[in-house]
Amino acid sequence: MNCVAPLVTPKQVVPTSRIETKPRSLRGMHVPFLVHVFCSQYGCNGKMGRRNVKDKRPMTNDNLPDFSRGEGLLPAIAQDADSGDVLMLAWMNREAFEETQRTGRAVYYSRSRGRLWRKGEESGHTQAVVGIYVDCDADTILLKVRQQGAACHEGYRSCFFRELDGEEVNVVAERLVDPNTVYRAHDK
Ligand SMILES: [Zn+2]
Repeated sequence: MNCVAPLVTPKQVVPTSRIETKPRSLRGMHVPFLVHVFCSQYGCNGKMGRRNVKDKRPMTNDNLPDFSRGEGLLPAIAQDADSGDVLMLAWMNREAFEETQRTGRAVYYSRSRGRLWRKGEESGHTQAVVGIYVDCDADTILLKVRQQGAACHEGYRSCFFRELDGEEVNVVAERLVDPNTVYRAHDK
């Protein structure tokens, strides 16, 4: 079932500890009931972003992307938060990363245009960020997103719409939009 949760920016995510703290009016009710209330309110079908926290670490440089690697640009993967499909890979500099964190909307750095690229700024195909992850080496970023329309500038939901098949290449997705009608310049 598709989740229809409203945009939840990282700042708005309710920590699990708060969800499980019962307000006075709800004392005596079981925690699963409260989780159900939370989920039905936000439409998240029980898939709350941070429920599997095993450990808390400080937000130090060790745990944040290291933009000194890769000459200030790090690869950022966007993954569909609901289906798990990989949607695209793009690049982020520190400014793009911090704006993404701050606004809850995916912002990348366009290498071809040499400037910040607010995903969907021309196409309307925005990405609401529901989770930000940093890999073990702190040199790759993963965003879990709720994608509006097509992530790919070719008009497909995912950039990975081609599958190699022996001597051929299969197109394995429907084109959602004609890129010529959506992009004025190149929102890539
Ligand atoms: Zn693409």
